[in-house]
Amino acid sequence: MATKKTSSPKAKKSGTLSIVVPCFNEEDVIDICHEEITRVVDSLPYDIEIIYVNDGSKDATLEKLRSLHSKDKRVVVINLSRNFGKEAAMTAGIDHVTGDALVILDADLQDPPDLIPDLIKMWKETDADVVYGQRTVREGETWLKKITAKSFYTIMNFIAHRVEIPKNTGDFRLMNKRSIEALRQLRENHRFMKGLFAWIGYKQVAMPYSRAPRAAGYTKWNYIGLWNLAMEGIAGFSTVPLKVASFFGLLISLLSFVYGVYIIIRTLISGVDVPGYASLTVMISFLSGLQLLSIGILGEYVGRIFGESKKRPLYFIEHIDK
Ligand code: UDP
Ligand code: MG
Repeated sequence: MATKKTSSPKAKKSGTLSIVVPCFNEEDVIDICHEEITRVVDSLPYDIEIIYVNDGSKDATLEKLRSLHSKDKRVVVINLSRNFGKEAAMTAGIDHVTGDALVILDADLQDPPDLIPDLIKMWKETDADVVYGQRTVREGETWLKKITAKSFYTIMNFIAHRVEIPKNTGDFRLMNKRSIEALRQLRENHRFMKGLFAWIGYKQVAMPYSRAPRAAGYTKWNYIGLWNLAMEGIAGFSTVPLKVASFFGLLISLLSFVYGVYIIIRTLISGVDVPGYASLTVMISFLSGLQLLSIGILGEYVGRIFGESKKRPLYFIEHIDK
């Protein structure tokens, strides 16, 4: 792909770098975003391809992207048939990159394009397959979001089998050809990308950075969305909750058995006791709570099996402007 302008036009290009940006209702930031990205990549010794994936935006995002495409030949616009969510939008972008490496960025500039050269430098220095951005500061986020994020990573890594998901890491990362190829093979419908990124393995190194607040617009996440994402992560990468349910089931049956034996012996020795409504109520409510919880956990997994068994494509493309 030809680059129109670079800071040193005669410099020999050493391959193609693809930038993937998922966009959902980002009309406020998309122009600044493109300006920032081009400012940074213009000085890089690579041919550049910038893939914007319009994830069913309801505002003027698509029009803005199309006008960027008409002005800048490096821009590719993938327009999805509806809003599929960030994970699917990123997947669509990753499926279409042609570069030797890719960088995933958020449209709201929370993953600063200025760090692209640093990602590349680290990639070259460490010879890693993946260089992921690791947030040191989470500016513009509430304490509640920080705490929930922290506890999530702790629980997740405690129970995820073999795969370690790095803390404070988003989707901002550089991936080389073979890790892109690997990721493309993971076609599951329930996509917890942080988990999938980690799952492929290879050499992955962290690049610390401070995450900026949104440049404009507002976050599309709410706590229900985050809860669902967390469940996605846990149920997609671990069967520990199922084991916990059976463990407690076993433990409680054992305890009830011992208690039963104790009652029998006590009745034999000191006769029939005053009926114990209190202890009965406590036990019944405790056990029914536990049963509902276990059924709920089972349900999470059954729901995922249901979702995967349909084998639906991850997204549909309405049009690609190349
Ligand atoms: N995004 C998307 N589809 C969605 C929601 C978000 O493509 O359904 C994109 C959004 O345009 C942005 C990125 O994903 O580029 C991150 O979204 P956001 O800033 O809302 O999330 P946060 O930074 O708060 O995690
Ligand atoms: Mg954001």
